[in-house]
Amino acid sequence: MARGCIFCDIASGKVQSRIAYEDEDVIAFHDINPQAPIHILIIPKKHIANLNETSDDDLKLLSKLLLVARDIAKKEGVSERGYRIVLNTNREAGQSVFHIHFHLLGGRPFGWPPG
Ligand code: AMP
Repeated sequence: MARGCIFCDIASGKVQSRIAYEDEDVIAFHDINPQAPIHILIIPKKHIANLNETSDDDLKLLSKLLLVARDIAKKEGVSERGYRIVLNTNREAGQSVFHIHFHLLGGRPFGWPPG
């Protein structure tokens, strides 16, 4: 848990969010500023700033985040239509919250390349 980290505060329940999924390692909640009809953030409860800060020990945790995203996509009914998983790392990619998170975006078509 990192002091002053909004996502740590959400993971601990100190800050309220609209929770889509939770277990002992992972919490998923709806983005406060959604960019698509479905926009859910999937985060580890453990504080890791971003992908650059992960280690080989995080292999299972990172895999779990993706499997949770897969299951939420199914639950939200976008598995077959399609969805996008985004992991922004550092400023040029647009990372604004420095607690690693996957964005699960769905419910509309997405362009490529991304903006
Ligand atoms: P990124 O720019 O990739 O770091 O994504 C951070 C995301 O967190 C943005 O899409 C924000 O809208 C979202 N966000 C920031 N604060 C909150 C919050 N309190 N609850 C839910 N989503 C948030």
